[in-house]
Amino acid sequence: MHLMTRTPFLLVVASLATLAPLVAAIGATPEAVRGAAPGVQTTPSGGSMGGRNDTRGGRADLVIHGGPIYTMDSVRTWAEAVAIKGDRIVYVGSSRGAASWIVPDKTRVIDLQGRMLLPAFQDAHIHPISGGLSYSVGCAVYDLVTKEAYVHKVAECAQSRPPGAWVRGDGWALSAFAPTGIPDRKLLDAAVPDRPVYLESSDGHSAWVNTRALQLAGITRDTPDPAGGRIDRDPKTGEAVGSLQDSAMSLVSSRIPPYTRDERRDGLHYALRMLNRLGITSFQDASVGEEDLMTYRDLEEKDELTARVVASLWWERAQGMEQIPRFVDQRRRFTHGRLRATTVKIMQDGVMEVQTAALLKPYLGKGGQKGLTMIDPQTLKTVVTALDKEGFQVHFHAIGDAAIRECLDAVEAARRANGARDSRHHIAHLELFAPADISRFRALGVVANFQPLWAFADGYIKDLTLPFLEPERQRFIYPIRSLLASGAVVAFGSDWSVSSANPLEEIEVAVTRMGPAGETRTPFIPEERIDLRDALAAFTLNAAYVNFQDDRTGSIEAGKLADLVVLDHNLFAVPPGEISNVRVLLTLLGGKPVFGDWSLNAAPGAGAGP
Ligand SMILES: [Zn+2]
Repeated sequence: MHLMTRTPFLLVVASLATLAPLVAAIGATPEAVRGAAPGVQTTPSGGSMGGRNDTRGGRADLVIHGGPIYTMDSVRTWAEAVAIKGDRIVYVGSSRGAASWIVPDKTRVIDLQGRMLLPAFQDAHIHPISGGLSYSVGCAVYDLVTKEAYVHKVAECAQSRPPGAWVRGDGWALSAFAPTGIPDRKLLDAAVPDRPVYLESSDGHSAWVNTRALQLAGITRDTPDPAGGRIDRDPKTGEAVGSLQDSAMSLVSSRIPPYTRDERRDGLHYALRMLNRLGITSFQDASVGEEDLMTYRDLEEKDELTARVVASLWWERAQGMEQIPRFVDQRRRFTHGRLRATTVKIMQDGVMEVQTAALLKPYLGKGGQKGLTMIDPQTLKTVVTALDKEGFQVHFHAIGDAAIRECLDAVEAARRANGARDSRHHIAHLELFAPADISRFRALGVVANFQPLWAFADGYIKDLTLPFLEPERQRFIYPIRSLLASGAVVAFGSDWSVSSANPLEEIEVAVTRMGPAGETRTPFIPEERIDLRDALAAFTLNAAYVNFQDDRTGSIEAGKLADLVVLDHNLFAVPPGEISNVRVLLTLLGGKPVFGDWSLNAAPGAGAGP
């Protein structure tokens, strides 16, 4: 079964009458016409080179030249030089053209010496505050791989906390507990018997707790599973084993004292430093509450928010439509400066590895289980229609083919009720597709928001996913190229701290479908590998589109904000398997360095990892 026909692309071109001659002339792929959803007038940002260039020149604050400049404009032009005045790009083009912007002693001139200039990266799905908190004040075990190592680290963390205090942390991998993905409280009890331990999995969908934590939460064998969650139990005794799925996690986490305002600010600072170091200057926070919004505002007011942020307001499944006036109020109160609270996040299923992702057909060998549908599909339609009517963008979490279909159905219902508007609803994660749903993304103007770092055959895929799916369904795991070929807008995000926030690691996997650190040597579903330029677009211009800021960021074009990144190598000149070795040397936000300095020397510790 092969999805790559020419038909979808021809349809794309035909529906864009005005762009068709240009697209035909340059032989562009669908990426060049991204952003124009059917029935919605969106202008692909930018245009031909120099369209808005002021060629008369003037006094620029900064001119960058001397290396390959990939502009990411709509025809993917290369340039020789960029001039910047204040926070804006005023000229993109030849070195000669940029010369008229240089005023001696007034204009800083940076010679790239062959290094590459790109639009800064944007992450379409990330959790900066919770991730930053777990590294700055929590017990983070992300970088460890075995259960023994987790337990050792937790014991260490426990010693550094006051007696009796909770030990909270996250980052363990379900694959360390293969084949079930379910950990046991006794391992933690042996290391920390006297104080409660709460440790979330790296994907945030499971918690590993010790006996003390279960006691404090009052969980016994008689405690029923909450809606949308599961208390994992010993099949013989019915006792909780110390593993909680999805909504069951809050039975314990709600007992933990919340982080203080100062701690939250420290967490966000930590994340911003890391993201800027990785070349990221914009992102969509995939889940915020009132306290997170206050944390962002605290930094925004002190001019310390070194990224443009779209916040996704978390839809509480235990509540109903009465949340919407609160969201409207939060949008009004918290949309200011670099912060916009204009999106609502809805989680529609769990994850594949513990069979909580909602599937159309049962998991193989799991007694007919089809996963968890978080919101009944009829209710989902009502909710999404109401949010759409209020002008919110909806950011869905959907992993299984049933959940993806339910989200698409909900958007379809909203469009039927409200008419097509420039809504840019997007579905994140998108692990397993029913092939028939692939073309619906473009048809409904829904952005496919992938986390490409997951698209290689690691333990999650090999041991915890493939064994439970029929071979013919396995072909449709993370079908990124098929989505591109269908003409959908494809954007990328990291889901940090679930997995690395380094866009270059993620881009490498999108291009190779192999592990970025050599974990695998065979591409996983090689038909779904994509071109480097499509992968870069997904992390720049298309992520900007998701954040409704492709008119001012995401590409290097005159008139746009100077959010830029200098890399130590030209990505198009390194072998695909070495993309993740490339380092960020300088990150500019509105023309000002937020990482690195004008010398373009790699700072110590630059690159991957926090
Ligand atoms: Zn997420």
